[in-house]
Amino acid sequence: MFGKARGEDLPGSMYLLVALACCVPADQEWGLHAKAQGFCGLYLPFLPFPFMTMHIPLPAPGIPQSQKEKQGPKNIIEVRLVEPGSKSKSNSKGAALASSYDAQIRPLLDAVDRLRNLKVMQEGIQLPTIVVVGDQSSGKSSVLESLAGINLPRGQGICTRVPLIMRLKRDKFAVNPQMHLEYQNKIIHTTESGITAAISKATNEIAGSGKAISNTPLTLVVKKTDVPDLTMVDLPGITRVPVKGQPENIYEQISGIIKEYISPKESIILNVLSAAADFTICESIQMSRQVDRNGERTLAVVTKVDMAPVGLHEKVMADDVKIGLGYVCVRNRVGDETYDEARVEETKLFETHPLLSKIDKSIVGIPVLAQKLMQIQAASISKCLPDIVKKINDKLSFNVHELDNMPSNLSNVADAMRAFMKVLSCMKETLKKILIQREYDEYPDEFNMHGVARIVEMLTQYSKELPVNQVMISEGEFLMEEIKILEEAKAIGLPNFFPESTFKTLLKRKIDEISHFPTEFVKKVWNYIEDVVIKVLVRHSDNYPQLQSSMTRAAQNLIEKMKKQSCQVVQGLIDMERVGAYTSNPDYMVIWCSLMEKQDHFLDLLHDHSKSSILDLGRVGKVKVDHLRQQQKEMAEKAFNLRMRMIAYWKSVILRLVDGPALHIIYNIQKLVETELDNEIVDEIAGHSGLERMLEESPSVAGKRDRLHKSIELLKESKQVVARIMDRIPLLDD
Ligand code: GDP
Ligand code: MG
Repeated sequence: MFGKARGEDLPGSMYLLVALACCVPADQEWGLHAKAQGFCGLYLPFLPFPFMTMHIPLPAPGIPQSQKEKQGPKNIIEVRLVEPGSKSKSNSKGAALASSYDAQIRPLLDAVDRLRNLKVMQEGIQLPTIVVVGDQSSGKSSVLESLAGINLPRGQGICTRVPLIMRLKRDKFAVNPQMHLEYQNKIIHTTESGITAAISKATNEIAGSGKAISNTPLTLVVKKTDVPDLTMVDLPGITRVPVKGQPENIYEQISGIIKEYISPKESIILNVLSAAADFTICESIQMSRQVDRNGERTLAVVTKVDMAPVGLHEKVMADDVKIGLGYVCVRNRVGDETYDEARVEETKLFETHPLLSKIDKSIVGIPVLAQKLMQIQAASISKCLPDIVKKINDKLSFNVHELDNMPSNLSNVADAMRAFMKVLSCMKETLKKILIQREYDEYPDEFNMHGVARIVEMLTQYSKELPVNQVMISEGEFLMEEIKILEEAKAIGLPNFFPESTFKTLLKRKIDEISHFPTEFVKKVWNYIEDVVIKVLVRHSDNYPQLQSSMTRAAQNLIEKMKKQSCQVVQGLIDMERVGAYTSNPDYMVIWCSLMEKQDHFLDLLHDHSKSSILDLGRVGKVKVDHLRQQQKEMAEKAFNLRMRMIAYWKSVILRLVDGPALHIIYNIQKLVETELDNEIVDEIAGHSGLERMLEESPSVAGKRDRLHKSIELLKESKQVVARIMDRIPLLDD
């Protein structure tokens, strides 16, 4: 009669259940067990239990299986189910346990239900939830029906089209079962016989009367004397093929909803599998394994055991699909049976069926399922609560901070002026940090906002693009360009002179080839600066959207103006280089002299055809000279001289074309941030009655303020709900 499964050490989730065990004076029959293993016996009067004991492993995501194995008996929660009418000694303790359950666990469930009611999940705070998933027609609704003892819409095809949150509450004073639906801010009271119609009507209202599905949940609250305290969510079944009237992407829609519910680690997945199915290819198993790889928070319910009993025992024992929380085999209501008849049939089936009776009683039947779910739910709630408290507190202080940072309602122009000046000074401060001082604390991970670093990068790239070697060597063409220019400049005069104009002509040609680079560089830098400035501006003026467009316009106009000026400045630099040839840089003469030392060797190579046709110019490189052997000696000499001057001079040109624009940009960024941007924006805003516009609060800001107020209220209320319950936890933990 013992079904054992190992769980893990879970101080957070154990204490409640252990506490329950401690509420019971240990009797001679199982006192030793209780002391050694810390188990609890739960007697719940509403379920017709057979006498048995079972061990339930509790979910603890994140602990590897091997580690769990080692942790031994203390990890096991033992649940003793006692038949109410039996003469067992522990029966007399039943009432004590039941009242202890009422005192200890019920308040936890109520607290979570209250949080759910407050819609704390809208604030991104997840609550422990049992989520029912399964392939279509696997029997999800039937399982819920069996647990609740009420009829739900069920049958072939898609019946559940919206998430149905079912809250079962045991109410010992409810003379008649009470039930109501909550959706779209409505509360619809109904009866046991009217529930199916009421759910269908509500579903139609939420998802339309066709076959479409919706993610808006519907809540069903059931209060009865004989239901287990459970809150579960029933979800639409997974279907691959859309039926007539369903959208093509029905699979994506349904799996999207399911994933949303089962992904949070706080969710317990109740995977409903039909006994007839091959578990390894069930869609619902594949989906739950995506979010719960080792099945640590998955419990399987195998339905329709009456229809496919053959091989079931083996299938469950083999556990091919890794279900960490174990299996429970059930037989749901069939046809028009009543709930009570169904339970009797189920008990009979597992007792008398030649194959099914072999399955351990600790894993069969709806009462066992109810019991397991309550245990798991209580453990999961107590484990999650501290985290929930923390999240509520964090979210609350974040929202309070946000609200404090919102602008106060401005009532006159002086107020508006002050607020406007504040926006400007904050903006200036930020821009100074990122564009001048290299302080990126406001944007630690946004590398695009690390202004100086990005501009330096652009400058480095620009200087690399400028061809340093342009005037040096191009294979096979060495000196031919110079010779052509010299030929065109021939004059009647002495042969060992060459006119200065030849150098200028060559220089002009070379400059023309690179003239577009500096302009492109400054344009790129200004485009980047514009991007950064607008982002900073939008961030700081977020509370005054009515000003944003004018401020943006002013900034863009100013930067456009400065970009144009920069283009003119660098164009001026290029023009100067084109016209004049001057440098005070002593390197020019040093380089030229060292290059000219090679001239004799060069002429020698031209004269003596038996020698190599390759001239080594040291750091400048190697060149072929054989094509020059038929040239006149003076011409070759002049061309060589011309090229060596150009090589020596080009270094100064490139240096000026990098340093000039760089200094210009640095200077202009400073000007922009320190004075120009302020002036331009003030002119635009003050000159166009912008300050008056600031007095009217924009709808988006008003909306944000309202949202924050509501959220803070909700979180404060949630905090109170959990504070009340957390007060009890140290008592339980003793
Ligand atoms: P869902 O689509 O997963 O919600 O499945 P339903 O609960 O609507 O069940 C689909 C069909 O299977 C219905 O006709 C149920 O009556 C039937 N069904 C569910 N559980 C059992 C069971 O344990 N035994 C038998 N014989 N039929 C079942
Ligand atoms: Mg269903």
